[in-house]
Amino acid sequence: MNAPASTIEELTAQRDRASQEHATLVARGLKLDLTRGKPSPRQLDLTNDLVQVDGPLTSADGTDLRNYGGLQGLRELREIFSGELQVPVEQLLAAGNSSLELMHDALVFAQLGTVPGGERRWVDEPEVKFLCPVPGYDRHFALCERFGITMVQVPMTPDGPDMDVVERLVAEDPAVKGIWCVPKYSNPDGTVYSDETVRRLAAMRTAAPDFRIFWDNAYAVHHLTDEPAEIADLLALCAEHGNPDRAFVFGSTSKITFAGGGVAFFGSSPANVEWWLSCTSKRHIGPDKINQLRHVRFLRDADGLREHMRQHAALIRPKFEAVDKILTEELGGTGLASWTKPAGGYFISLRVLDGCARAVVAKAKEAGIALTPAGATHPYGDDPTDSVIRIAPTFPEQAELEEAIKGLATCVRLVCTEKLLA
Ligand code: PLP
Repeated sequence: MNAPASTIEELTAQRDRASQEHATLVARGLKLDLTRGKPSPRQLDLTNDLVQVDGPLTSADGTDLRNYGGLQGLRELREIFSGELQVPVEQLLAAGNSSLELMHDALVFAQLGTVPGGERRWVDEPEVKFLCPVPGYDRHFALCERFGITMVQVPMTPDGPDMDVVERLVAEDPAVKGIWCVPKYSNPDGTVYSDETVRRLAAMRTAAPDFRIFWDNAYAVHHLTDEPAEIADLLALCAEHGNPDRAFVFGSTSKITFAGGGVAFFGSSPANVEWWLSCTSKRHIGPDKINQLRHVRFLRDADGLREHMRQHAALIRPKFEAVDKILTEELGGTGLASWTKPAGGYFISLRVLDGCARAVVAKAKEAGIALTPAGATHPYGDDPTDSVIRIAPTFPEQAELEEAIKGLATCVRLVCTEKLLA
């Protein structure tokens, strides 16, 4: 275990050593990429059988899936995901290939039509604001920017968003129409919302009658340990507390089967589902049911889904463990950085000394190690503390990943010791 440098001489020696190591790294001309949370080719291989679809192209009720129709998506696929996404089958829709697309559509539908319980279209409001727990997912923030939605940061705690802040903001400001939530193994901190957080989200008083929780349960089944995290049932709690239409639930098989070749899900209250279908029925005549059938034949049932996810975990757990081991060896005890040890999901958050994240990412780039831009975890790309770096360990091969994390640790030591000496 390292120790924090206690004298200027020790710090200078650390900085000089890191500087030399960095120069060596740069000279090697590496080309390593830790930018996006993508499944690795070996993970994708787990799903190769998906492309074969044996047997008749009909659903359990005999519908010919080669034809138009079936706006709700295949019931047998919705049955597989209903439990894990905590949405009753009747209220769960199986749609296209991307949940992000559904979140985009939800915003468009709310802008251009009135959501149940709303008084007017969001586009007719003087201002629309969304609460953005930080650190968070850059593409949620990009959607807000796209539609001119003002983003209001809310700090994350180990239990989810700081609910004292959330409750105050939603109660006092009718312009606050929504909140982004990744409730299980959040992107990028790996946080699992506590039952109390979920209950307070469901129960809180909101000034906007059409307030919506965008519940992006992207990592619902993406466990890294043998003790899967459970979260409270938001939809049920919303109904129990008299706010049945408050939650929009999203999910997808992007990191279960094929990223970009999977199926996305939308779930909500009966009123919201009816509203959603009335919007989507103008947009298309039904989803790709053949792809949905492939997923049913491939995953079989909820147990098949869980078994498949165990195979993913077996491939990616060693990567998460390697990141933790290397960071502990290289940075543990130095006081220069801390990092998360998630029990699921796709990311590790590395926190460096305030004011150092951008410089670390820049130094890593010089050494041929591509990282998600510092600031991406915050609205408008601006992390006011300039301290959070998102690590996406799943895509690179193990050896490449280990090399990249060692290089990253060198950059952290270099930039942070320089900062302390400045
Ligand atoms: N939501 C979160 C929190 C994600 O991390 C990602 C991908 O990284 C997505 C959504 C994208 O999902 P999809 O591929 O279903 O659009």
